[in-house]
Amino acid sequence: MIYIFPNFPDLEFTDPTITVDPVVSNLDPENMTVDVNVFIERTGDIKGRYGLDINPVKVNDLKSLPIVVTKNTKIYDAAVTMFVENVGTIFIVEEGILQGVISRKDLLKASLGGGNPADIPVGVVMTRMPKIIYCKDDESLIVILRKIVDNEIDCLPVIEDTKKGLKVVGRISKTNIVNCLYDTLK
Ligand code: ADP
Repeated sequence: MIYIFPNFPDLEFTDPTITVDPVVSNLDPENMTVDVNVFIERTGDIKGRYGLDINPVKVNDLKSLPIVVTKNTKIYDAAVTMFVENVGTIFIVEEGILQGVISRKDLLKASLGGGNPADIPVGVVMTRMPKIIYCKDDESLIVILRKIVDNEIDCLPVIEDTKKGLKVVGRISKTNIVNCLYDTLK
């Protein structure tokens, strides 16, 4: 059963929790009126009017190939990689295992520091483990959105647990998410 409520014109609710609270506002038995307050909690699935159903979307449906370098890669070369690969975040790996993350701001900061970008390795300026926020294939869209919004970052590495550490198998960026929402809405 799908419900559409006037207060939420753009959303359909499946299985919301509905509490009906009758308020008798006139106690004259001849002419009694009853106001009904309806409280709706947003439980169950929330579905956009235009077929948007983000609940089943998982990291695995969204991820793209990770762009990786090693920690000795120079800042200059990392910046060139960002342009060539058209990404804003690069992961630093050793034998495929996640070591760090470098973003546009990190490169800018390092370049403004006065050193020669062709000499400074990314290992010096990267955000490193255990500070890295990552995700796994089976996580849902809402979970990764929360990670991105709460941590004010643009991109998450997708990892697999291995004995050697966290193996990088993909990336999720805000662009992946916007593309997914657009594909679902159009
Ligand atoms: P930009 O620099 O393009 O604005 P971000 O907002 O993603 O990109 O990066 C801001 C800071 O957060 C940078 O210092 C970056 O190293 C760090 N960062 C980026 N992604 C992650 C992540 N997944 N986990 C932890 N830190 C991150």
